[in-house]
Amino acid sequence: MPDQKRYKWRRDDYREKTRGLLMLNTGDGKGKTTAAIGVLVRAAGRGMHCAMIQFMKAKTDRYGEHESFDKLGIEVHTMGDGFTWDTNDKSQDIKTSEETWALCVEKMRCGEYDMLVFDELLYVLSYGFLDIDAVIAEIRSVRETQPNLHLILTGRNVDNAMQKLIDEADLVTEMTEIKHPFHAGIFAQQGIEF
Ligand code: ATP
Ligand code: MG
Repeated sequence: MPDQKRYKWRRDDYREKTRGLLMLNTGDGKGKTTAAIGVLVRAAGRGMHCAMIQFMKAKTDRYGEHESFDKLGIEVHTMGDGFTWDTNDKSQDIKTSEETWALCVEKMRCGEYDMLVFDELLYVLSYGFLDIDAVIAEIRSVRETQPNLHLILTGRNVDNAMQKLIDEADLVTEMTEIKHPFHAGIFAQQGIEF
């Protein structure tokens, strides 16, 4: 059995000693979201208060990680209209992105979290659905007032236009695709992709 008291003590201790990181998981290879989930699982094990907000996945869907998060006490909000933006309605995509970002801002500003993951925020930014300067300004202001808050942003398509965000970050990891089963005709599978 884990020593809950020890973990609780560590959480209090953690608030004093931790330097919050801004982490970006990007690239075309698989593993951006799952790496973020891995860190959430690790942090939750330390008694840290964590949440993930998902921009693009359909709010009507349940994924494997949602079931696991329930068991681990990790909060998750899935706000998107579906992975492919198949609404074909840019104004709707912008509206959904703005609503989702508003929730991110609320969660950051409330000061109750140790770690927040904004899944696919980088993808949304690359499409110009949110203003990158406004997003950076908000993140910077939150990190000034909460220097121990960890933030993880995921999504492919980080290009030169996002250099400002890369400059702002402490950790940037690019997943590179060497091989993906999709190219061999193997589609998304339960437990691996969702
Ligand atoms: P994961 O959620 O598995 O960690 P990811 O977050 O790195 O993946 P996304 O960009 O969010 O990847 O893509 C969503 C899904 O698309 C992933 O589950 C991934 O397996 C799949 N995918 C990634 N690369 C390809 C590709 N080249 N062709 C088809 N599907 C792909
Ligand atoms: Mg992903």
